[in-house]
Amino acid sequence: MSSYNPTTRKEAEARTYGRPGFAYKPAQCAESVSGADIWSGSHQCNRKAVAGPEKLYCGQHDPAAKKAKADAREAADNARWLARDAQAELTTDRRKAFDTLVEVAHWFSGDRLHFLPKYLADEIADNRSVQRELAKSRA
Ligand SMILES: [Zn+2]
Repeated sequence: MSSYNPTTRKEAEARTYGRPGFAYKPAQCAESVSGADIWSGSHQCNRKAVAGPEKLYCGQHDPAAKKAKADAREAADNARWLARDAQAELTTDRRKAFDTLVEVAHWFSGDRLHFLPKYLADEIADNRSVQRELAKSRA
């Protein structure tokens, strides 16, 4: 297997494919591709040479097309990582908000609950996760 990719007709003509060393066929794409199984080694791509430098490659192995595909994959990976970071940040923010609510509930528990705005007192009274945390801190 070779990652060497000729960029001129002359370079392509100088190379061979596979273990026995098959000669370059000018009508076909210059890319060396793997066989159907691990035993068959590599061979010259069967597709018509129609693209890339000196039209040495097929549309799929055109170095520009390969680069565009790699760039698109990288952009998609980056977007995925950014989304993951944003999700992690959101989770952290929710956790902080929850901890704050538990802290407020702790300080305004029992007869001090009426000092809080009703919506907050109701939220603390109805939120089972907050009540569970309060019960833990009392234990
Ligand atoms: Zn090809």
